[in-house]
Amino acid sequence: MDATATTYRTVIGLEVHAQLATSSKMYCRCSASYADAAPNTHVCPVCLGLPGAMPVMNRLAVETVVRTGLALNCEVASDSKMDRKNYVYPDLPKGYQISQYDLPLCGKGALTFDVGGEARTAGITRVHLEEDTGRLVHDQAADGVSSLVDLNRSGVPLMEIVGDPDLESPEEAREYLTALRQILRYIGASSGNMEEGAFRCDANISIRANDGSFIGPKVEIKNLNSFRAVERALRYEEVRQREAAANGDELFQETRGWIDTSGTTVSQRTKEQAHDYRYFPEPDLPPLRMQPADLERLRQALPELPPSRRRRFIEDLGLPDADAAVLTNERTIADIYEDVIAGNDAGFARSAANWIVNDVLGLARSRGLPQDQLPLNASQIRNLVESVEDGKLTARVAKDVLPRVEGDELPIDVAERLNLLSMNDEDSVTTAAQEAIDANPDAVADYLGGKKAAVGRLIGETMKRTGGRATPDAVRGALIAILDKMKT
Ligand SMILES: [Zn+2]
Repeated sequence: MDATATTYRTVIGLEVHAQLATSSKMYCRCSASYADAAPNTHVCPVCLGLPGAMPVMNRLAVETVVRTGLALNCEVASDSKMDRKNYVYPDLPKGYQISQYDLPLCGKGALTFDVGGEARTAGITRVHLEEDTGRLVHDQAADGVSSLVDLNRSGVPLMEIVGDPDLESPEEAREYLTALRQILRYIGASSGNMEEGAFRCDANISIRANDGSFIGPKVEIKNLNSFRAVERALRYEEVRQREAAANGDELFQETRGWIDTSGTTVSQRTKEQAHDYRYFPEPDLPPLRMQPADLERLRQALPELPPSRRRRFIEDLGLPDADAAVLTNERTIADIYEDVIAGNDAGFARSAANWIVNDVLGLARSRGLPQDQLPLNASQIRNLVESVEDGKLTARVAKDVLPRVEGDELPIDVAERLNLLSMNDEDSVTTAAQEAIDANPDAVADYLGGKKAAVGRLIGETMKRTGGRATPDAVRGALIAILDKMKT
């Protein structure tokens, strides 16, 4: 049997853990930042799990999960509670994690995303609130063999977004994750930074025969720390399971780890070894009741989300799909763009989009700026586009000026300082044209002899003399006027 043909279809569901962008931890007032802090400096009796320490709920964390639920069209629970998830591990000082079991903050929802230009929708099972664990450091102990524990991350607010098994390919899984991360960044719920571990993904994948003759067991893949790893691991696992099924080999319900260097998954534990977490309601925290007025307040405060903003840029401003997608990738970039075009017409909007997408973002990339930052502010970009539209700067000069803009200086002032303003006066352009004609008798002879194309060489020579400050049309006009006089 051919394992790669359409005999089988793939079923994928993703579980995402996202760290919430709060400044303090979930149940205490310790700082939630841990990346740069010295080990075990952001800790207190609560997040150290000392006996008798009482947790206090972080209101912003609860609201952030609810806001995420609203952005994902979830049903928000009117009644919810926290539960203890019991297990023993060195990075979990309490011996349990405060999480949510049967009454999560958010239930059934949906996420719409793009795959190759087609809209796809996948269900969201639930979104719940929990806390992160500490971290084990394996290679820094003095004896060279012991592991160290850093509890700065212990108690950092975490939300788990469980997706329905609606995804049908590794590509879809990747696009789903991209769209989810974009929404979390838009609403300020999480940095979504995968490299720093603020956005982590576990993937469930199984296969089934199209004719219903075979339904494979669910395999969970862990240790996926980049979008690329998610797609590669799922592709590897899809092929492995199809080949096993085609060969009549047995597949197990199991957890497998992704090994990035070898590009393979390896079995970590089977169903028989699955944990029993003995969940029970957290006795130290009251149940949560969502007030309708609070819910309405949070709903009203949600920003416009990327798909709607993208559509608006395309339909109202006439932007090409690709430009609209790039401009709405990050909320701050879309905000700056809207600032730039405020009060201007659609033609200006398209021109500004073009400058930002091609030149300003290009400069940001070459300077290694974070993806939500631009090297120029809105007034500077508006000034750049206006100066070109008004003919004060040629497009070529504007491209040269762009990387030389520093601080709050406007591009037009930079151009003036560098003597790069457009030559709008006819005399200067005519003088440059005359110089080019005097210096290139061969080209002039060719032109006068009937080779009209020779004027191109003269245009180039004149442009050089103006330092790119005259428009090609003005230069051509000046040259033709002189040459026509020479003819007669
Ligand atoms: Zn603490």
